[in-house]
Amino acid sequence: MSKRDRGRCSFCGREIPYENLFQGTDGKFICFDCVENAHEIIEEQIHSQTAEVEEDRQRRKERGRKEAADAGFVNSGKLDMQSLPRPTQIKGFLDQYVIGQDEAKKHLSVAVYNHYKRLLQPDSNDGVEIEKSNIILVGSTGTGKTLMARTIAKMLAVPFTIVDATVLTEAGYVGEDVESLLVRLLQEADYDLEQTERGIVFIDEIDKIARKTDNPSITRDVSGEGVQQGLLKLLEGAIVNVPPKGGRKHPEQEFIRVNTQNILFICGGAFDGIEKKIAQRLNTQVVGFESQSKVKRIDKDNLLQYIAPQDLKAFGLIPEIIGRLPIITYLEPLGRDALKRILTEPKNAITKQYEKLMKMDGIRLTFDDAALDYIVDKAIEFKLGARGLRSLTETVMMDTMFDIPHQDCIVTREMVEEKLAKIDANRLVA
Ligand code: ADP
Repeated sequence: MSKRDRGRCSFCGREIPYENLFQGTDGKFICFDCVENAHEIIEEQIHSQTAEVEEDRQRRKERGRKEAADAGFVNSGKLDMQSLPRPTQIKGFLDQYVIGQDEAKKHLSVAVYNHYKRLLQPDSNDGVEIEKSNIILVGSTGTGKTLMARTIAKMLAVPFTIVDATVLTEAGYVGEDVESLLVRLLQEADYDLEQTERGIVFIDEIDKIARKTDNPSITRDVSGEGVQQGLLKLLEGAIVNVPPKGGRKHPEQEFIRVNTQNILFICGGAFDGIEKKIAQRLNTQVVGFESQSKVKRIDKDNLLQYIAPQDLKAFGLIPEIIGRLPIITYLEPLGRDALKRILTEPKNAITKQYEKLMKMDGIRLTFDDAALDYIVDKAIEFKLGARGLRSLTETVMMDTMFDIPHQDCIVTREMVEEKLAKIDANRLVA
């Protein structure tokens, strides 16, 4: 077969010289033109998807700004001591959206306020330099860590982004380099480097990069210690090369050099099973040094409140990382009362959303107290916590939303019991 011989492109059906065809493993051909067309289509699609994501981000930002402005926070992006919201005001804003979690809210509010002050600290020659205080939030999934981060983002005068530590792996493995955490911050700052370098990054699921074994030399731990070492660099403050479009770094790519010295890092994680480590430590302490009366005072239902750096170490975070996260705080487990309040109290509470939906049809919707109790009971029974409240309420409301009633509607306990009677807990989104 000479180069001049022809084959048929299986896509466009034309006969083309072999030199302009690719052959697949099944023996079929595709011509260069079809490859080029396909490439263009894919490029266009990626471009429009990126544009959509960007539009969505801008919309969210705008909405957040408006909510913060309605609550009296003017976010002009300008920082000065007079206009800084005080920690109590920041917490007050969080209170409107996040139920309970006072301890974590307090720490977060102070961390943000101090971050601002650190950025504003005057150049004095008193030798005192305010250092940054990165913070770590420990709490079971669905207790409000991300919600808190998202809420605070609405009122901040500096760029803020939430990133997920689970995508990170050591260089050379499938996944993302640690530097990619900063790509989103750059985007949030519309690629303004100065703004980026004053921003705040919330790293979610930090527990997923904990060392998996006590002996790291046995197997390579691509998503564990290596990633922690990379992250340490960012937390400490370093100048890092960030690939502006994200993904893996490769030599031909242009980098943006970002200094992380003034970037505040807030980490969050569930640290499943850390209670055991806390209990072990408390037991040893109690047996060793404390009197019997102290034993009784330990609240076994909420061991996270006693969390200490050594527990994070026992869980698999390297001491250097822990050293760079000087503020440790915790989220409370959500009990029956908190779950019920979550259904009704926050500014965009689930029940308020359904009431609004029905109001747009001219229907006044109300939930009986007993109906709410039942939904909460089911969320607890299915171990779904706050995350389950939405899917349970959605299940209850589905028929009403489908077959819109002609008159005002009260959601009663009987109705909820009936709708949830045959529910399959596995199919609920937690
Ligand atoms: P986490 O990040 O701790 O796993 P999330 O913040 O993502 O949990 O919470 C999941 C959902 O549950 C939130 O979107 C919110 O609707 C609800 N939720 C959880 N905790 C609270 C809370 N303390 N106050 C109000 N809503 C909450």
